[in-house]
Amino acid sequence: MRRPLIAGNWKMNGTKSSAEALLSGVVSGAASVAKAEIAVCVPFPLLYLGERLLADSGIQLGAQNVCTEPGGAYTGEVSAAMLVDFGCRYVICGHSERREYYGETDEIIAKKVSVSIAAGMKPILCVGETLQQREDGLTEQVIGAQINGVMSRIGIDAFDRLEIAYEPVWAIGTGKTASPEQAQDVHVFIRNKVADESAAIAEKIRILYGGSMKAANARELLSQADIDGGLIGGASLVADDFLVICQAG
Ligand code: PGA
Repeated sequence: MRRPLIAGNWKMNGTKSSAEALLSGVVSGAASVAKAEIAVCVPFPLLYLGERLLADSGIQLGAQNVCTEPGGAYTGEVSAAMLVDFGCRYVICGHSERREYYGETDEIIAKKVSVSIAAGMKPILCVGETLQQREDGLTEQVIGAQINGVMSRIGIDAFDRLEIAYEPVWAIGTGKTASPEQAQDVHVFIRNKVADESAAIAEKIRILYGGSMKAANARELLSQADIDGGLIGGASLVADDFLVICQAG
């Protein structure tokens, strides 16, 4: 009953010409995707191109970051209203690369989620543990704290308007994927955590898996009961690979 969402996270990749080729490839193959909703989260300079090439394709456009502030004197930042103006439906918030390299705290992430929802977008809230944390048996504690860090600030009702992505840090860009069982266990933990506050929202919310999801392993991961889609990095940069994952959704 939850329609799968397959979202590409291009990260800091792409030129005008490579993006044009990739977007066109995804658009032309998307008609054969029966079930999943498809989104591509492109770098800011490519939003304009994305809006143009994805128009009327049914594929949603997304961004990878947003400013906590609505506008004004914030050199180098991009507001939620700007993203909406460029046709963004989704925005990735709290990706582990932003937590690690740009010092994004739960407080900052909660604000980004909140301004994105207020602007009418759907945030994709990323959570996930490091390898050390998993080996120390802290996975649920870490993910619980990351969810609480947002929920305690913006309330459970906001979870009706966002997606969650479980992305184990040790699986991102490493070629090491969580096993379907490992991922399913964490997805159940996350859904139960949401259910503690609202059973109705827990039933509806989509929980995506991200971390080396690719054509070869997508079907097995996506067949798990609580895996409602994927956030795809590397494999979203090749149209045919990305489309195979979309078809598996
Ligand atoms: P990956 O990245 O698919 O390249 O592991 C996923 C992500 O970071 O969103």
